[in-house]
Amino acid sequence: MHQRLSAEQLATGSILVALAVMTLKVAAWMMTGSVALLSDALESLVNIGGAVMAWFAVRYAQRPPDAGHPYGHHKAEYFSAVIEGILIVIAALVILHEAISALTRAGDPAWGAAGMLVNALAMLVNLAWARVLLRAGTRLKSPALSAGGRHLMSDVWTSAGVLAGLVLALVTGWAVLDPLLALLVGVNILREGWLVIAASVNGLMDTAAPAEERQKIEEVIQRMAAGALQVHGLKTRRAGRALFIEFHMVVDGAMTVRASHGICDMIEIALKDALPEAQVVIHVEPEHKLEPAGIEPR
Ligand SMILES: [Zn+2]
Ligand SMILES: [Zn+2]
Repeated sequence: MHQRLSAEQLATGSILVALAVMTLKVAAWMMTGSVALLSDALESLVNIGGAVMAWFAVRYAQRPPDAGHPYGHHKAEYFSAVIEGILIVIAALVILHEAISALTRAGDPAWGAAGMLVNALAMLVNLAWARVLLRAGTRLKSPALSAGGRHLMSDVWTSAGVLAGLVLALVTGWAVLDPLLALLVGVNILREGWLVIAASVNGLMDTAAPAEERQKIEEVIQRMAAGALQVHGLKTRRAGRALFIEFHMVVDGAMTVRASHGICDMIEIALKDALPEAQVVIHVEPEHKLEPAGIEPR
């Protein structure tokens, strides 16, 4: 049902979902007066902040290239993704801190039945939206949406850990199970936060296209470069949705500019056909620039 939503619509949806979850928790707090629910509701502020940030990043990333940023603005999304990763790490540290202090004072959790119910509801809402974001993030190649989805999934794990800990502690009578489980959840989320930060920083570092895309590029060149002697020096990089490709193409030095340009056009059209987001730059060289290894046209 969400198949055709744009990145911007999805980012707007994230804000609405975060607001709905917070409203749910504030309402539950007003009905029960549970302090645990209030602090949980305040934590939702972080989600709203993250969603608003992703919204701005997605919009800015869509701006067309301009004089100041001739390659486009796609990388803006990675900044949002890095900050989402930091938010996940902070959430993990808060959970770990609470778990450890609960272990040392054998504290009793102040969640009532209402608190558990609201937490379960919020968990389901977050889970549903996280799945939408993760799928859309892959489809739209949007780092901001993907990171938002992973952030929500870490919230789902937190809620699941809290609920499981409470239920286990109730069933077994071992109150220590609750903070122990929270400790496990905290470590898991810390790892997730680190992975999100690493992936996003990597995106800022001009990372090459994934192996299967590079293979596709080489196949297209082999197929379409007929008339050229060799292609070498292939470089690719991904910036969110954008894909940049450049390489050298060696031709017979006596070939006319018109003929070699014709080959370049054929390759460029075929590459954009295979990878619609591709932006291609080709450098033409005469035969004394042949290298020992390269892509040989068929
Ligand atoms: Zn600009
Ligand atoms: Zn060269």
